[in-house]
Order: sequence, then structure tokens, then C-alpha cells
Amino acid sequence: MTEQKPKKQRLCIVCGTQAGKHELLRVVRMSDGSVRFDATGRAAGRGAYLCSAECLSKALKAKKLERALRTKLDQTTADKIEADVTSALRESQGIVEE
Ligand SMILES: [Zn+2]
Repeated sequence: MTEQKPKKQRLCIVCGTQAGKHELLRVVRMSDGSVRFDATGRAAGRGAYLCSAECLSKALKAKKLERALRTKLDQTTADKIEADVTSALRESQGIVEE
């Protein structure tokens, strides 16, 4: 098979922004049912993509993340995902707090 795959574009589940999967934040529902931020973008499981921390918090508030992942999120999990995303974004932007 020499079929050429088009570069896969993913959609932010909140605002619909299209981008390559490495430019979006991925939240994954693992096979054990737990949900977490997938910093590598390669964890196995059902994934949902978000373009920014703003969209993540909107997705959590509007239950869009739950719908996209077809699961329930408790507050602890939601808080953990938000915290992980925030710190990942801070690192990728090279912002150092002094
Ligand atoms: Zn978005």
C-alpha cells in the first residue's frame, strides 16, 4: 500500500479550531476508565482535542469533555486535568516564574 495519508487535522471540541494533533492539547480516556491530560499525544484510548486552556475550561464547564469522551468526570479529575494542562502550557511557552 502506497496510499498517501493526508496530514491528519484535529478539531478543538469547543471552538472547532483545526490543527495538527501536536498543536492541540489531548485529553484521553484510558482503558481503565480514568481520564487525564495526555502530554505525549500518544496514549492509547479515546481522545479529545482542545486548542487552549480557555477551551479546556469551557469544555469542563459545559460538559463537552464528558460528552466527547463518553464518560463522567469528577471535580478532582477535572481539576487535575486543568492543572496539568496549565503547567504543560507554561513549560511549552518557556515562561519561568521568578
Ligand atoms: Zn478551541
